[in-house]
Amino acid sequence: MRDQHPLTLLLIGSGGREHALAWKLAQSPLCRRLLIAPGNPGTAAHGTNLALDVTDHAAVIAACRREGVDVVVVGPEAPLVAGLVDALAEAGIRAFGPNAAAAQLEGSKAFTKELCREFAIPTAGFARFRDVAPALAYLRAGRIPVVVKADGLAAGKGVVVAETLEQAEAAVENMLGGGMGAAGAEVVIEECMVGEEASLFALCDGTRAVLLGTAQDHKRVHDGDKGPNTGGMGAYSPAPVLTPELEAEVMERIIRPTLDGMRARGTPFSGILYAGLMLTEEGPMLIEYNTRFGDPECEVLMPRLASDLVPLLLAAAAGDLSGVVPEWRDEVALTVIMAAPGYPGTVAKGSEIRGLAEAEAAGALVFQAGTKRDGDRLVADGGRVLAVTALGRDVREAQGRAYAALDRIDWPEGFCRRDIGWRAVARET
Ligand code: AMP
Repeated sequence: MRDQHPLTLLLIGSGGREHALAWKLAQSPLCRRLLIAPGNPGTAAHGTNLALDVTDHAAVIAACRREGVDVVVVGPEAPLVAGLVDALAEAGIRAFGPNAAAAQLEGSKAFTKELCREFAIPTAGFARFRDVAPALAYLRAGRIPVVVKADGLAAGKGVVVAETLEQAEAAVENMLGGGMGAAGAEVVIEECMVGEEASLFALCDGTRAVLLGTAQDHKRVHDGDKGPNTGGMGAYSPAPVLTPELEAEVMERIIRPTLDGMRARGTPFSGILYAGLMLTEEGPMLIEYNTRFGDPECEVLMPRLASDLVPLLLAAAAGDLSGVVPEWRDEVALTVIMAAPGYPGTVAKGSEIRGLAEAEAAGALVFQAGTKRDGDRLVADGGRVLAVTALGRDVREAQGRAYAALDRIDWPEGFCRRDIGWRAVARET
């Protein structure tokens, strides 16, 4: 493999996912220098934060040239869909992550559904609409519950699982009526699948895919899976419901035909393919794709990964994952999100957070997301603020360690779910 000399890496993003990636990348003997743009106070412990507007591709390219960046690693979806990897490639700068054409797997739900139809990838039946009247007629003639989705990127807010016809109609009217901006100019109406959800991550080089772990997250804001959906309130890895047989089935029936299909269309997919799955009675079905690591799933995948991440990303970016087999620690990981009051609605910012060192001394990794420095204080600066992560022999042990550490964090305003991992713990007992 090339690039055995130490590299300067630039990581794009500023969330808990990027803190976990920075923590992992900085441990690599191949990483001489790690830059993070824009980063957060947590990433600054593992490298140098650069105050860059990552939507300004020319500025990112200029920074790469100035800093002698060898490889760019893109964390979030928006820069991928906006074509940052394409712009870097044109400038002769290597990047890990899909180009804009391949990132359509996340950027457009209709694109992915059409790919599934064309290449016989198991997923819910669907129809697409740009106008309200035919969409309403379709809903009235069909079954309830039904799922209404905005086609474009909506930061997790573009999906309505409608239990009544009225909810479905309201969702269609809101999305196509401009309530979600350009993301809702088209809607996808899907059959509602029933089953347990799990996520599978595949590292892809355009042709091949290598399994890069599984996880389950907790979307609802309150204990018992109650309340509105969030970006994720906690996760654990691996997902015990995904047996080795099911993992192999997903790789064979979902991931492989997706890569084959993308290649056949002339837009090969390279990067992280994150499959949101519904484990139905008829077998695993695709709910949706993301084209990057999940957040908070990354915060449980990185602590479990025993292999050096850098050669894995380089091999994928170079289009040659042959012979690559990631190695894992024989432990499970669990992360609990601490969020600011008001999340997932309007959040109150600025409250002081103390006790991170105490939590880490208790055996956890505390990844920072929405935090900022205010003088020598660390303050909340976003919805999801901390991801408190622990390893253990089983989910119950990892859960106990994560909450024991979390309880040492002195941030009275913050809140968390108290039941992260409940499904897996129930399965263990
Ligand atoms: P997505 O953003 O597409 O992952 O959707 C968010 C959530 O909506 C998923 O995690 C599922 O819980 C639910 N969902 C999406 N599509 C379906 C579907 N076709 N059937 C049942 N639930 C769905």
